[in-house]
Amino acid sequence: MENVIKLHDKKFRIMIPAKEIDDAVTAVAQRINADYKDKETPLFVGVLNGSFMFMSDLIKKIEFNAELSFVKLASYEGTTSTGEVKSLIGLNGSIEGRHVIIVEDIVDTGESIEHMIADLEQRNPASITVCTLFFKPNSYRKSRPIQYRAMEIGNEFIVGYGLDYDQLGRGLKDIYVVTE
Ligand code: 5GP
Ligand code: MG
Repeated sequence: MENVIKLHDKKFRIMIPAKEIDDAVTAVAQRINADYKDKETPLFVGVLNGSFMFMSDLIKKIEFNAELSFVKLASYEGTTSTGEVKSLIGLNGSIEGRHVIIVEDIVDTGESIEHMIADLEQRNPASITVCTLFFKPNSYRKSRPIQYRAMEIGNEFIVGYGLDYDQLGRGLKDIYVVTE
């Protein structure tokens, strides 16, 4: 893939090459392997669409028996004055008593993951942790701990490896950042 690419109206250049992403995924997988090896069949819950590539690589590095599922956060305008409401779709079976690991592409302000955790908590799992490919510490505004962060970045807008710019760029194997 070329070094500078164009998606819609913007140009992007490589910020994190595939090898570095792979090393970061390996490191976070090793931590999860150590923490969960004695827990009964943990459940990885990926948040679509952004987490599909991260989940695919992460799960290959997991050494215990685990289940895997994907959910989507549906956004729509609520009828009340509270404005935007997000609901979780795609989780069919019960997660009661299960050890859940949420797999996200990126945690920015923390708004999305907050909704996600609150929804899952109501279903009485044994535990919930979050594993995110990227974490933006300067924009995170919530107090919940984000246990597993493969990489931390500044406030720059990135695409690739599952992340999109208006639906483009998800298939890129490297991470790109806006260049102009
Ligand atoms: P939050 O709710 O934490 O503010 O934002 C989470 C969502 O914003 C992510 O799941 C992602 O869809 C989007 N997002 C935040 N930062 C970036 C970024 O740098 N690049 C892309 N492609 N999406 C981002
Ligand atoms: Mg996301």
